[in-house]
Amino acid sequence: MKDAYFIGIDVGGTKIAGALISAQGRILTRTKLSSPKNAHSSQVIRVIAGVIQEILEEKRVPRKAIKGIGIGIPGVVDATRKKIITTPNIGLSGVALGRILERRFHIKTLLENDVNLGTLGEKYFGVAKKARHVIGLFPGTGIGGGIIINNQLFSGAHGAAGELGHMTLRLNGPLCGCGHHGCLEALASRWAIERDIHKAVREGQKTIIKKLVKNKFGVIKSGVLKEALKRNDRTTKRILTEKSMVIGQACVSLRHIFDPEMIVLGGGLIEACGYFMLPIIKRSVASDRFFNKIEPCPVVASKLADDAVLLGAAALFKLVNAAP
Ligand SMILES: [Zn+2]
Repeated sequence: MKDAYFIGIDVGGTKIAGALISAQGRILTRTKLSSPKNAHSSQVIRVIAGVIQEILEEKRVPRKAIKGIGIGIPGVVDATRKKIITTPNIGLSGVALGRILERRFHIKTLLENDVNLGTLGEKYFGVAKKARHVIGLFPGTGIGGGIIINNQLFSGAHGAAGELGHMTLRLNGPLCGCGHHGCLEALASRWAIERDIHKAVREGQKTIIKKLVKNKFGVIKSGVLKEALKRNDRTTKRILTEKSMVIGQACVSLRHIFDPEMIVLGGGLIEACGYFMLPIIKRSVASDRFFNKIEPCPVVASKLADDAVLLGAAALFKLVNAAP
């Protein structure tokens, strides 16, 4: 496998990114195209194939050295049948994407949930290389997760495991996009923070965020939260402290369920505000007396950032080769 190369694809709601990656996790070339909006599956497939075609046309390595194409999908995937079961934000539900691409490119193609791949990327090429049992938690616009047990991804009976953002933390908490109340995502994702800042403003609390978004007070991106923290905005600090405590509480529960060697935190919110949030999250995890006499469980920020899914897509082939 030493001279093997892989194509990693990260299918997102706004862009479809691709990279040519060596077996050692080095990115040789990368490209991206915009995701078509409200498009039919055939159009989305055309864009994904376009990204792969572009990488192949660069001819950085001989075609026969490319041993696989790994694809990260924002949804539930039937990895065995190489089929997408459901993707809420992009029109690929029900599509046997793996088979379609294999017929077109004659290269082995594997599909997996994108956040699962992000966690796998960190395990094989990032911050969790030495750990066999890893939990990935990625608070961004929503909150995704990934579970690695014994160096293998755990995706459950139907490919839907690891949706850690939808664990219930408050029985009568706010409504989540999934239809339940009090999910981690409804409490501590970027959209939950946005909702709470809007509410604080309605209640008359002062915040610099209104000025930072130039009174376009709708979406509040993670970068704006970072800037507000930098300017010592009290409302932002209060809300992010509370959210960090909720994420910490989720990490404590995850530790009780999985006893991982490491919890990796990534995603846009952590990338932007991790320096403020991580110490609070770590304190929550360290204060769990149940684990007093057991080795500590490090809570660590992702190392690969935006490349985690692409590199995880290449790492998928390591799992296939390691499998008995
Ligand atoms: Zn939910």
